[in-house]
Amino acid sequence: MKELLKKYFGYDEFRPLQEEVIEHVLSGKDCFVLMPTGGGKSMCYQLPALKFEGLTLVVSPLIALMKDQVDALKTNGVSAEFINSSLLPAQIGQIQEKIISGKTKILYIAPERLASPDFVSFLKKVDVKLIAIDEAHCISQWGHDFRPDYRNLKLFKSQFPKVPIIALTATATAKVREDIVRQLALNDPRLFISSFNRENLSMIVTRKRKAYEKLLGLLQKHKNESVIIYCFSRKDTEKIAMNLRAEGFNALPYHAGLNNETRKNNQELFIKDEASIIVATIAFGMGIDKPDVRLVVHYTFPKTIEGYYQEIGRAGRDGLPSECVLFYSYGDVRKHEFFIDQIEDSVEQEKSREKLRQIIEYCETVNCRRKHVLKYFGEEYSFPLVGKDEEQKGCEACDICLNPNSMFDATEITKKIISCVIRTGSRFGRNYIADVLLGKSSQQIIDNQHNSLSVFGIVSDFDKDEINQIMKSLIAYEFLHTSIGKYPTVSVTQKGIQFLKEKESLELPKAHQESEGGEKVSKRRTKYDLDLFEKLRALRKQIADQNNVPPFMIFSDVSLQEMTRYFPADKNSFSKIEGVGVKKLESFSEAFLAVINRYVKENNIQSVEIPNRIQNINVENNNFTVSDRYRKTKEMLDKKMSISKIADIQGFQEGTIVVHIEKLILNGEDIDIDYLKPAQERLKKIKTAFEKCGDEKLKPVFEYLKGEYSYDEIRLGKLFYK
Ligand code: ADP
Ligand code: MG
Repeated sequence: MKELLKKYFGYDEFRPLQEEVIEHVLSGKDCFVLMPTGGGKSMCYQLPALKFEGLTLVVSPLIALMKDQVDALKTNGVSAEFINSSLLPAQIGQIQEKIISGKTKILYIAPERLASPDFVSFLKKVDVKLIAIDEAHCISQWGHDFRPDYRNLKLFKSQFPKVPIIALTATATAKVREDIVRQLALNDPRLFISSFNRENLSMIVTRKRKAYEKLLGLLQKHKNESVIIYCFSRKDTEKIAMNLRAEGFNALPYHAGLNNETRKNNQELFIKDEASIIVATIAFGMGIDKPDVRLVVHYTFPKTIEGYYQEIGRAGRDGLPSECVLFYSYGDVRKHEFFIDQIEDSVEQEKSREKLRQIIEYCETVNCRRKHVLKYFGEEYSFPLVGKDEEQKGCEACDICLNPNSMFDATEITKKIISCVIRTGSRFGRNYIADVLLGKSSQQIIDNQHNSLSVFGIVSDFDKDEINQIMKSLIAYEFLHTSIGKYPTVSVTQKGIQFLKEKESLELPKAHQESEGGEKVSKRRTKYDLDLFEKLRALRKQIADQNNVPPFMIFSDVSLQEMTRYFPADKNSFSKIEGVGVKKLESFSEAFLAVINRYVKENNIQSVEIPNRIQNINVENNNFTVSDRYRKTKEMLDKKMSISKIADIQGFQEGTIVVHIEKLILNGEDIDIDYLKPAQERLKKIKTAFEKCGDEKLKPVFEYLKGEYSYDEIRLGKLFYK
């Protein structure tokens, strides 16, 4: 499989889960694949298609994308075709003949094709070996993008019962997932779910103050790179695009109100790297798979976390570091609320209000953004461990973890807040509680006689905003609970009551201080020669235009970066560059080598030896790639080896092996680690410690256990009781 991967796609390694899915598909069984946008779903059916003798049929909802996918396959030397309503009947006829003659490996079709009995009988004449259903959530009414035509796909199992089906999507709740499996009548499908963490995306939330200046700063930093800016209204998109053009940026608007031709044209210019910035409403994005979007800005924050994650997912599909910046302001909360108030159906209205509350919570959190979002999607995220016994350092790529807040002793204020919530009967919201604590004699407080409580006016060292912020942290730490609805009330949890009773102390992060003028950003940029990069980019564009395909189809940014890091001198070393398969080597190596060699000569540069197996960017300098290392750990676990032994052999700290185990479990790997289970009473102690200290951080748990348990045992213990 790896040979085929390199031969046709030029990649050396599989992305997480790809290999497992492919193996399963080759065994002829049904499966369901849930991976985030950019996770590499297409490979899961494209590679088996190359192995199968016969045709792989791919159903995809977006006509525009179909052509791109087919063009991309063709530049890689894979024979692929598509059939949809953009073709004339005569063209369709020709393609069908070609397919019957058996030369085509992959056929993309739009779902409405299956409504035609003629088309179905054509398919029956073909040796179909695999059916792939992309964007499978479109079949479900419960999903966010229901397409009635997808219902036609039900006929696959009845008409082609022997052909295995692979269904793929990036978004599916449990309900949608069951619906997909049922409607497609999948046969005992194996479910593959990969982590939804997108490591290469940095997630930044910033106050919407001097927003336009901040935007200009970001665009300056991402000059010449592809950028999407999401706005609230059509009017905003046009205004911002116009202003940016006046500043000399190549920005175009995109929204559903533009006429078809303009919209199509603007999208095309963006894909062809002729306009670098698209200023859009959320109408933009479905139809593009541009892999090198380096910045996504939410000029106004989105309505839901689901929408947010999908929109930022359009950044960095190629795996290179990319930035996602959201501007947050209270004024924009009002804008959203205004629209929610107009919703007539009260159930829908309540749902939208709850979604809004959740995205606000995300924007206001003082804890790691990545952890927050992943938790929202039901995934536990652990910070990468830097070294053994070292405190977890955060995700290294969100504004909170990049600019760690200092902590303050919140013991007293927390006790005051909790008492106040209890004394006022757990019936009020945060603002009211803050007012009581600050001793504000509002009419409501007087009416409720809360001005005679002992907690009235006992806080003088914090202002209202600060108390509010602390209460939010206490909600996040589960000392307090907040109800849902338009007027959420706050109550005290069991954990909060316990805290009040016991003589414990609590530290909370200080409210997030925003550094003016350029916040720290992730240091994850890799080194490469920028001048040469620009030259190669220009060449790429020229070749793309000659071939009438988007530039990213010639070579991705990843490939160009590798060329500018290793300066390959001949065809042999060029073939080792990521993204260079047999076909691209033949078609393009000469042109690119000419530019590289001239540049190397002019600048007196030494070419750099390319490792035999180039590994993914961002991975430590080691001869193994991540997936290899994980696999090795798994093999040793299967042999029931101890963690310290595995660590020895792998040359890692024991903590790293525990991280491997966590990731393997998260990936749904079938591993038996019962033999590593800490003794029952120790496990119990660890569990109690986590219950007392929360599972955000290990250090408090470690300290609570008085150093009698190592960090590794604590992490391991957590795995078991979870
Ligand atoms: P998805 O459909 O899950 O959003 P795609 O199939 O479009 O993702 O893949 C996203 C990008 O990742 C594409 O540019 C693709 O070429 C690239 N890709 C896929 N598999 C690999 C791999 N094993 N190594 C490197 N890049 C890959
Ligand atoms: Mg896809």
